Formats: sequence, structure tokens, C-alpha cells
Amino acid sequence: MYGLSAADLDFQSRAREFADSLIPLETEVELAGGELAAGLEESHQKRAIELGIYAANLPKEYGGGGCTSLQQVLIQEQVGRVTNALAWVVATPPSWLPAVATQDQIERYVRPAARGERDECYAITEEGAGSDVDAIVATAARVGGDYLLNGVKWHVTSYNCADYAFFHGKLVGGEHAGEHAMFLVDLPSPGVKVVRVPAYMHTLGTAHQHPIVAFENVRVPASQLVGAEGDGMSFAYEWFRFERLMVAARCLGAAERLVAEMTVFAKERVVQGQPIASFGAVQAMLADSLTELFAARSLTYETARNIDAGADVKVQHGQCSMAKLYAAEMANRVADRAVQVFGGRGYMREYAAERFYRELRVERIWEGTSEVQRAIIADQMVKRGPARFA
Ligand SMILES: Cc1cc2nc3c(=O)[nH]c(=O)nc-3n(C[C@H](O)[C@H](O)[C@H](O)COP(=O)(O)OP(=O)(O)OC[C@H]3O[C@@H](n4cnc5c(N)ncnc54)[C@H](O)[C@@H]3O)c2cc1C
Repeated sequence: MYGLSAADLDFQSRAREFADSLIPLETEVELAGGELAAGLEESHQKRAIELGIYAANLPKEYGGGGCTSLQQVLIQEQVGRVTNALAWVVATPPSWLPAVATQDQIERYVRPAARGERDECYAITEEGAGSDVDAIVATAARVGGDYLLNGVKWHVTSYNCADYAFFHGKLVGGEHAGEHAMFLVDLPSPGVKVVRVPAYMHTLGTAHQHPIVAFENVRVPASQLVGAEGDGMSFAYEWFRFERLMVAARCLGAAERLVAEMTVFAKERVVQGQPIASFGAVQAMLADSLTELFAARSLTYETARNIDAGADVKVQHGQCSMAKLYAAEMANRVADRAVQVFGGRGYMREYAAERFYRELRVERIWEGTSEVQRAIIADQMVKRGPARFA
């Protein structure tokens, strides 16, 4: 199905094998409050590297997998089949970075990231700036050959596992005052400190946290600036475009697993002497879920193929937003139905339906909320005409 090549199917099956090996660990990790046994994540990462599904998005010349966008989607789709972030070890380092990085940054960040030796986190969002990135108040001031970075960043995912952060701030003084800039900040660095670690809806324990992080007079040499002064926003957009497609991919995987588990359960669960799959109301939940999964998968694969075919960047932008919007909303509807089909068991943490119901909620929020995706799509339609996008 979906016209996948032999190479595509190979990546898909390696990633599927990996995901299948993690699924049996989920319940134990959930009941342990998200905590993983010591050394487990490292061994999973090692296996992902051996399987050739790690850093699939980085070009081969820098040690990455050099995969097509479609192959990256196929890999991340399998990552999405696993709860409790157990499969987050299949990393997608910043694929936009090599094109703008200096040789020194390539050697210190890109190549080690491809080898699984360095992990990044993104410090963009602030208390008063989420959807509206331009509202950030974090600053970057040039002082001689250095920059002084200041700001408080929210929801910094995987900060606790990262050894460098992308810090997004507005320039103070100089020709580009008020414009955005992105910096590489090694972790730990003097002046970077955790303000607090809030608890979130999913159960990831201390494996992956989203702390509020303060950057107080963090001094970095000018060589830590990514690209040029004023380029920060374009890098954030590039990252969002890529991540939105990957969010869509992971939502497909989650929905596929939910649909499969709902089907098995509906056939086995007997009520009033008959399997619940024979009740029209349950059939509607199954049928709607499978239909929407097919639609979301077709949309997401086609979006990836268009990127691989070199579609105009504005078209890529609009289509990635459509894929993210539809797949995230779809997966949340499917999770809601799955809880319903499983009845009381659907409310128990040892069932995947319950875990996905909580975990998928954020897919409608991060990397741009569903409302923001709709605003982007509508804006592109009005500016360029709907025919270019669908
Ligand atoms: C678990 C988690 C992890 C995250 N990880 C990171 C990370 O690693 N790095 C990082 O920098 N950020 C991260 N984020 C932040 C995330 O990207 C933002 O939460 C998200 O973009 C929404 O911003 P906000 O929370 O400020 O909501 P707001 O922007 O305040 O939005 C509130 C509501 O208003 C709506 N709204 C806003 N603007 C519009 C509009 N133009 N039209 C219609 N409706 C609108 C929104 O859709 C939403 O419903 C993370 C968030 C979470 C929850």
C-alpha cells in the first residue's frame, strides 16, 4: 500500500521492530511513574543507532541517515506507536542546522548529534510568548566579542537530557536591534539554571522533563551565534515545519495502534452474549477511526513526497500545517473513541488507550496549536490561492 519502495519498507520494518520491542515495557514504566531502569534509555539509543533509524533526518555527509522525508515519516510513525516516550531515543537532531552552521559548529554539534553523543533542547517559548514567537522578551546583547543572553524560557523539553540548548532572543543594540537571533548554549553553563520543574499530563517521570529555565547574563562567544544576526525567526520556522510533519507521523502511529487494539478488543469483549463489535454504535467508532487514519496517512505521506519532490517552501509550509492539524485532531478523536470502546478498562493506566488519551493531547498544542495551524493554512490560501496546496 501507499506505493512504498523497497528501501522505504526496509526503514519502516526496522523502526517497527524497534517499536515492538519497547511496547512490552510501557505498563511497568507507567506504573513506576514514568521512571526507567538505569541504563535502559542508553541501551535503547544504542540499538536505534545500530538499526540505522537514528538521526535519519541528517545528511549522510555529517553522519546521519540521509533519509528522504517520506522515510523519516515512516520511522517516526513507528515511534508514535509507543507510549511514555520510550521511543523518543529515535532522535531527529536539527536538520536545518548543517546548512547554516560554521565548520566549527558542524564538528562540535552536528556530527556528535548524528553519533548520538550530543542532544539538544529548544528554549524559545516564554511565559508571555508561545503562539506569538515575536512577543519574546529574552535578549541577546553584543559585548565585545561575546553576547550576553538573558531570559526565562518555558516548557524546555528534555532539558534534563540535553547538553546544549538553542536559545532564541531579540538583539539589543546594533544594526539588527529588535530582530531575532538563535544561539548555541552548552549545558551546563554559568548563568543557566532551572527555575522549577512543573508536572505535566503525561507520565514521563524524570526521563524527560519540561522545566522553566532562566538564562541570567549567560556569556557566549560570537561563534555560538547560529547563522547571522536577524536570522533567528527563519530557523524557528524551519524547525516548526519539520517538526509539524513529524508530529503528524507520530500521530499516525498512535492511531494505528489504537485502531488495532480497539478492533481486537471489540471482537473479544462479549456483552449480552455477543461481541461488542456487533453493536452499531461500536462499529461507528471503529469505522470512523480507521477512515480518519487512512485520510491522515494519505495526507501526511503525500506531504512528505511533495517535500522530496522539491515543492515550493510556502507549499511545504502550508501542507505540513495541514498534516499536523488533521493528524493531531484525528489521533485525539481516535484516542477518545478507544477509551470508550474499552469501557472501564479504557480508564485504567495499564491500557494504552488511557495513556494515549493523555499523551496525545499535547499534539494539538506544541509546535503550534491547532488554531495557529488553521491561521497559517488560511493565510496561505488567501495569499497564494487554495489550488497550490490541495
Ligand atoms: C509539553 C510541552 C512541551 C513543550 N516543549 C517546548 C520546547 O521544547 N521548547 C519551546 O520553546 N516550547 C515548548 N512548548 C511550548 C509550546 O510550543 C507552546 O505551549 C505552544 O506554542 C502554545 O503557546 P502558549 O502555551 O503560550 O499558548 P498561547 O499562545 O497563549 O495560546 C493560548 C490559546 O490561544 C489560542 N491562540 C493563540 N494565538 C491564536 C491565533 N492567532 N488565532 C487563534 N487562536 C490563537 C491558542 O490556540 C490557544 O488555544 C511546549 C509545550 C508543552 C505543553
